[in-house]
Amino acid sequence: MAGWKVNILTIFPEMFPGPLGHSIAGKALSDNKWEMNLIDIRDYAKDKHSTVDDKPFGGGTGMVMKPDVIADAIDSMEKKTGKLIYMSPRGKVLTQEKTEELIKENIVTIICGRYEGIDQRVIEEYGIEEISIGDYIVSGGEIAAFVLIDACVRQISGVLSKNEAISIESFGKGGYKNLLEYPHYTRPAEWRGRKVPQVLLSGNHADIECWRRDKAVSITQERRADLWKRHLQENADN
Ligand code: SAH
Repeated sequence: MAGWKVNILTIFPEMFPGPLGHSIAGKALSDNKWEMNLIDIRDYAKDKHSTVDDKPFGGGTGMVMKPDVIADAIDSMEKKTGKLIYMSPRGKVLTQEKTEELIKENIVTIICGRYEGIDQRVIEEYGIEEISIGDYIVSGGEIAAFVLIDACVRQISGVLSKNEAISIESFGKGGYKNLLEYPHYTRPAEWRGRKVPQVLLSGNHADIECWRRDKAVSITQERRADLWKRHLQENADN
């Protein structure tokens, strides 16, 4: 069995693996570093029209995914759901720390919402955790699930090359924690009259590290006051 198993409940199973079948996540999938199990919610519809949604109580636009149908789809896994997650703009916004936590679960089950979302009672009945990918609305939980799964798969040991993994280490932990990345440059050393900062050509690793750190700090201060504040707090605590 693969190290990390993801069950995906969706009305669009044909959307998977989609982007997760390519590049880093795709290679990890074919190398059996993670495993994907698709559950078509429509298979658990109760009528001949395969209805999965209904009008909202209280009126208003849009449709709501039916609690009985979602529950039967969950129950079909016979308690082998592991951690239950519902992709939802109302959830806590996904962070790198959260992906590290999720990768420690052997099995994760992700419910992809469509329409206005799923009936609130299913969320409560099964103690489902809601996770958001950010403060905006996408058209379906599948798109959000791609983001969550890709960010998690990168954390599975052996998925990234050693060098890539080391670079994640430095940003995720230690002195770089909660800092945005410094700017990158590659050849040519001059392009359209724009020169690569001299220090990067110097070969002096201590100076380069110092420059990168300064840049990381100033970019974070400029763009993300919230992250900078957290950086200071956590460094003071340690
Ligand atoms: N009526 C909802 C939006 C529904 S969008 C609202 O206004 O809050 C349809 C589905 O897309 C949701 O059920 C959810 O599964 C998914 N979705 C949309 N935006 C998302 C986000 N930012 N994070 C995670 N999932 C999202």
